[in-house]
Amino acid sequence: MIRVSAARLVRLDSVLSIPADMVEAIVAHARADHPDEACGIIAGPAGTDRPTRLVPMTNAERSPTFYRFDSGEQLRLHKQLDAAAEEVVVVYHSHTATEAYPSRTDISYAGEPQAHYVLVSTRKPDSHEFRSFRIIDGEVTEEDVEIISAGADVEPTSNDVPGSTETDLVQS
Ligand SMILES: [Zn+2]
Repeated sequence: MIRVSAARLVRLDSVLSIPADMVEAIVAHARADHPDEACGIIAGPAGTDRPTRLVPMTNAERSPTFYRFDSGEQLRLHKQLDAAAEEVVVVYHSHTATEAYPSRTDISYAGEPQAHYVLVSTRKPDSHEFRSFRIIDGEVTEEDVEIISAGADVEPTSNDVPGSTETDLVQS
C-alpha cells in the first residue's frame, strides 16, 4: 500500500510517454470530427502509466464547444477495463476553435486524478496543437509530452520465463 501511494506521487511529476502512432490516431480522430469536438481514452495496464489501447468514444453532445462521453459506451468501457485489469491512462478531446487548454467545464468534469488529460486543437487546418495536463482537485498542471517510436511499448510485460539463456547454462 505504501509503495502504491509513493508511485502515484512520482507519477504526478512525470511526463506523458505516448507512442507516435497513438498521437497520429488522436489527431486523425480530431480532424475527422472537426468542427465538432472529438473525444476518447487510452487504456493501459493498471498502475503502469503506459497508454497501450486507444478507445475512440462518441461525443454524445456532437458539439463544437463541448464534449461528453456517451454514457452507455462509458459503462461498457469501464466494465472492460475492470475485467482486463486496465485503467484510464489518457483522456483526450479536441478543441476546434480555441487553444489546446482545458476549459472551465473540462476542469469541473475531470474526474480521473491518475489520468493525463490530452488536448488537441484543430483550429488551424495545417498544424495542430497537442498538449497534456494533470487536472487534480480543479488545479491544472501542464506536463511534457514524450513521443516514443510506435511499437516500443508492445512487448508483453508478464514474460518471466527465461528462454535462450538456459541453453548456455546446460552447455557449460
Ligand atoms: Zn474542452
